[in-house]
Amino acid sequence: MIAKGLLSTHHPIDAHLIPIRRCNLACSYCNEYDSVSKPVPTEEMLRRVDRLADLGTTIITISGGEPLLHPELEEIIRRIRSRGLLAGLITNGYLLTAKRILSLNDAGLDHLQISIDNVMPDESSKKSLKVLDQKLRLLAEHALFHVNINSVLGSPVRNPEDALVVARRALELGLTSTVGILHDANGQLQPLSERQQQIFAEIRSLGKQSYARLNSFQSSIARGLAHQWRCRAGSRYLYICENGLVHYCSQQRGYPGIPLAEYTRVHIDYEYRTRKACAPHCTISCVQQVAMIDNWRGPQTRPAFQPLPALISLQPLKPTGALRPSPPA
Ligand code: SF4
Ligand code: SF4
Repeated sequence: MIAKGLLSTHHPIDAHLIPIRRCNLACSYCNEYDSVSKPVPTEEMLRRVDRLADLGTTIITISGGEPLLHPELEEIIRRIRSRGLLAGLITNGYLLTAKRILSLNDAGLDHLQISIDNVMPDESSKKSLKVLDQKLRLLAEHALFHVNINSVLGSPVRNPEDALVVARRALELGLTSTVGILHDANGQLQPLSERQQQIFAEIRSLGKQSYARLNSFQSSIARGLAHQWRCRAGSRYLYICENGLVHYCSQQRGYPGIPLAEYTRVHIDYEYRTRKACAPHCTISCVQQVAMIDNWRGPQTRPAFQPLPALISLQPLKPTGALRPSPPA
């Protein structure tokens, strides 16, 4: 992935693909789910996978909503692998069974991530170690794919110590661990308290299996400081919603809002050079990880939200992005 990413800047490295917006949970800080949507038809999902493969994408990460609610998820994963791409899955884990894990093995899944928000369920989140520990044991026993457990810190998390308990449990089971920083229900990032920062540092020092140490960009975020980086959303990272539109990311839905079927290398190159005003306080770690490959090159000379060139059609904006700044008049 890194070698291909270094060789050329003209293809996406990671695309997040949404097969269903519905979720079986309702975390209070989340703006990425509903309780009614139907799954995207499998034929349409396969077309989107093919389009991303044609664009030269390296990894497709399936998320949601809750992607395990899609009845033919394994077919989508199979298509990703048959086109030579890596397949990732982000799930809340509730629907995992031994049978489903074997079926994901069989489909060729490469990587799975579960975020666990607390030890005991509370009004903010039911993604809790108490409920999910049995799923982690099943994964440790049956999964042939890489499993990462993401613990979280931030204002929606009541007991910051929980993140440490979750990270240690993941490592104990032979899984890997990262730590994320949550924005609040309004999409705003609050600096971590002193105790939260201590825990953050402790998780990052847990050893080789703690991938948290690799996310150096999080040090500034944890202290509430602006972080200087080049967000390559719309270029090296794509977010494809259930309607098949390309967005910068889950928190900036609406831009550029172009159908994937019409997205080309011209758009990829254009967005590569576009500066994103929301970058300094961004918490989206997957986009920041992807950006690390190019941070040393390709200065961003174009401010965001300028009219696009005539050859790029701008689609109507959808009012979904909680953090979306207003475009200039
Ligand atoms: S499980 Fe994930 S998608 Fe579902 S409500 Fe919680 S954070 Fe949102
Ligand atoms: S929120 Fe983060 S990932 Fe999304 S466009 Fe802004 S800087 Fe990029």
